[in-house]
Amino acid sequence: RPQLTIIGGGLAGCEAAWQAANRGLTVTLYEMKPQRFSAAHQSADLAELVCSNSLRGRGMNNAVGCLKEELRRARSLFLQAADATTVPAGGALAVDRAAFSALISQRIGQHPAIELRREEITRLPAAGAVIIATGPLTSDALAQQIANLTSSEDLYFYDAIAPIVSADSIDFSKAWRASRYDKGEADYINCPLDEAQYQAFVTALLQADKVPARNFETMRHFEGCMPIEEMAARGPQTLAFGPMKPVGLIDPHTGRMPYAVVQLRQDNHHATSYNLVGFQTKLTYPEQRRIFRTLPGLEQAQFERLGSVHRNTYINAPRCLNGRLQLNSEPRLYFAGQITGVEGYVESAACGFLAGLIASADLLERPLELPPAVTACGALLGHLSHLTSDFQPQNVNYGLFPPLENGRMKRADRRLALAERALRQFDAWLAGIEQQLPQVSA
Ligand code: FAD
Repeated sequence: RPQLTIIGGGLAGCEAAWQAANRGLTVTLYEMKPQRFSAAHQSADLAELVCSNSLRGRGMNNAVGCLKEELRRARSLFLQAADATTVPAGGALAVDRAAFSALISQRIGQHPAIELRREEITRLPAAGAVIIATGPLTSDALAQQIANLTSSEDLYFYDAIAPIVSADSIDFSKAWRASRYDKGEADYINCPLDEAQYQAFVTALLQADKVPARNFETMRHFEGCMPIEEMAARGPQTLAFGPMKPVGLIDPHTGRMPYAVVQLRQDNHHATSYNLVGFQTKLTYPEQRRIFRTLPGLEQAQFERLGSVHRNTYINAPRCLNGRLQLNSEPRLYFAGQITGVEGYVESAACGFLAGLIASADLLERPLELPPAVTACGALLGHLSHLTSDFQPQNVNYGLFPPLENGRMKRADRRLALAERALRQFDAWLAGIEQQLPQVSA
């Protein structure tokens, strides 16, 4: 059996180990706990849920419901453990966190093809295939080595996430498309504010409820990713001269330059999602919805993602990885989980699932088709592959899926149709995988 090393016994690392061991590899899985804990991990068990015990919505109206269903159909360890340890949570799939992690630890610990070593890896093994799944709080020595392998601009230590809205929820009787000074294509969507609207917006930002920083998150903000409310606190005109500056933009509805603008930049390949440029924020989610919907043109905005600023180690996957989760400069090194720029428990586990399969196929010298782009797993891989000027971590969302051919339906129906298409194609893909990489006994 070929040998695979996995670093990090979190959600991605455990799922990758499980897949690889079941497809015919011998796995050595390194986990630094309990010898060493990150600032957010507390339990000695593997696959610890560091914060909420919810794996988010069950329904297909949210893309994470579709992603979970794909993992369930693929008999992932993550979903097996989740389904075995659920607690009541309405429309969400929530788990008993201790039972969930204990079950995964037990299954990994008892697997005859997995050797678990409780050690911090400070230097990557010099040879052999390795999956790096050390998560958003990768220990410092390893993060430094990853920085050397990528380049300092391609490894980030914080995410500064701006909200994303779906394009079809923007009101174009107020907003318009243009680039500053009409340079290039009309790449941006612009929402104009007059002076009173601008002042009301700044006041609302200053008074809004914010998410308190945890002690390991007290951070020095880089100018480029300072939360918008902190910028607003520097002075009443800071935003009007910063991310909301109107220069070079003439509102075609009035023929004048507005007092301030919100610019939205295309966020996905399919131009169905747009992010609010410079609007990274630590406002609570309800406050973001309330305040950003006061902006002209965004009154009915549907948020595909809300903003945040967190401690988060991740690489610029579209630049550093080859579309199969391998480092371009050293393809024996695979990345999985949140460190790739997926966001969330389920997404991290799904990424581990994919990395485990891909590494198994490579080491067993078998071909492996990647999941189709229309599946939730394929959409996540797509997010890690499409080059953008501003790569940001993402939860899975329907904005990452290729649009339907017949997109003219109500939002709720469209989401169900996207899920139905995804699951149909996932089943066909999975049947092929079982042929290409059959499960073997250890
Ligand atoms: P992890 O689950 O963090 O696993 C990485 C593992 O690698 C850890 O066990 C760590 O101890 C180990 N490790 C690190 N460095 C080394 C090393 N050098 N050698 C050996 N082992 C090492 N997502 C949600 O969906 N819901 C939430 O509520 C949520 N809350 C979060 C709260 C915080 C504070 C953070 C930081 C993230 C949160 N996330 C949340 C985001 C993310 O989904 C989780 O962090 C998720 O656990 C990531 O999975 P992972 O496998 O990539 O990393």
